[in-house]
Amino acid sequence: MSNKGFTTRLVHADRHLNKPEHGAVHQSTNNSVLFEYEDVHELIDVFQGKKAGHVYSRSSSSSAAALQNIINELEQGIAALTFATGMAAISSALLSLLKTGDHIIASQYLFGNTRSFIETLKALGIEVSLVDVTEAKAVEDAVKPRTRMVFTETIANPVTQIADLTGIGMVCEKHNLLYVLDNTMTPAYLFSAKSVGASLVVQSLTKYIAGHGNVLGGALIDTGLFNWQDFPNIVSTYQVSDIAQWGITQIKKRGLRDIGATLAPESAASISVGLETLALRMERSCSNALKLATYLHSHPAVKQVYYPGLADHPQHCRARELFKAYGAILSIDVNPDVDCHALLNALELVITATHLGDTRTLALPVASTIFFENGPEERQRMGIGDTMIRISVGIEDIDDIISDFDNAFSMVS
Ligand SMILES: *Cc1c(COP(=O)(O)O)cnc(C)c1O
Repeated sequence: MSNKGFTTRLVHADRHLNKPEHGAVHQSTNNSVLFEYEDVHELIDVFQGKKAGHVYSRSSSSSAAALQNIINELEQGIAALTFATGMAAISSALLSLLKTGDHIIASQYLFGNTRSFIETLKALGIEVSLVDVTEAKAVEDAVKPRTRMVFTETIANPVTQIADLTGIGMVCEKHNLLYVLDNTMTPAYLFSAKSVGASLVVQSLTKYIAGHGNVLGGALIDTGLFNWQDFPNIVSTYQVSDIAQWGITQIKKRGLRDIGATLAPESAASISVGLETLALRMERSCSNALKLATYLHSHPAVKQVYYPGLADHPQHCRARELFKAYGAILSIDVNPDVDCHALLNALELVITATHLGDTRTLALPVASTIFFENGPEERQRMGIGDTMIRISVGIEDIDDIISDFDNAFSMVS
């Protein structure tokens, strides 16, 4: 199948990679928590990692494994794990790999809940430098002797700054740092995290991958590019015979098994169905986003549009080089005489809700909601204005989306 196109591989992935029984084209959902072994020696071998298999579904199950195989293939990794949510993937990975006294470098434009989780890391004695990741030099300048990893997202939310993904990959390679990339905003159809040297890819499956706002999930993929012998925090118990598996083994044991934020089997099944149409939905959402951004850019009530597809975006060229399309998130600042809350209330089709990557178009005032906890100074550093509205563009017919905004603007201006 490797010579076939993206969607061809995806829609046939379950039957090819997971080989369901009875000729089923989907892997069946298996709710069993426990797994029986007729020979106890076999059970012992699975426990000790000498043999592949499942023993207890918090750590692994056939349903989770089926989705992990598909996600791993999608990101061209060597191994993948799934989690209950995107935040579970991020927090489990970082808590399993870092310890007191370590230093990490992270984007100053992080997703709100990841930013908030950074405070938990600091409370555990992990030092964090938040830097402007649009310049690899800012990342390199922050490197210290105890730096263990660089964590960034591809396109930041809501202001759409694009990290210098290639440059950061080179900095990480030069200094032997783990490069952890949150690829939620630009899933595999748009961008290959491996192509810029990412060591670990983390992502929320809740967003574009599942796509329909009806299931939570997260994933972590090891691209196989990092040499785990260069990482001092792998404990001897998890230094298994294949060095490439050291990192994923420690994250599976300390993160998935011990922290326990496991993806439910039904969720794995719904995510794999959503995933089949990833390319179709991304193409449509990104093309709608570009049209909506162009319309808003020329609207007299709009002061500024933040969208990587517009020529005036500071990283427009970088976006064109790295991504197949410019993503489906955009933000706007309206003119001071326009009440942004009244505008949101006047939208009829577009849903006022948090969440992104849905089939439906969603809009949200960000400073007073998802970035409220950050406070005014940090919001300013992130480029988030008080009346900024974030729009996650869906797959509806574009004329309907534009006319909804057109009506709403005429009601409030
Ligand atoms: C939504 C999101 C997350 C968290 O994912 P959940 O599945 O909601 O826990 C992490 N990173 C980014 C960039 C996100 O947009």
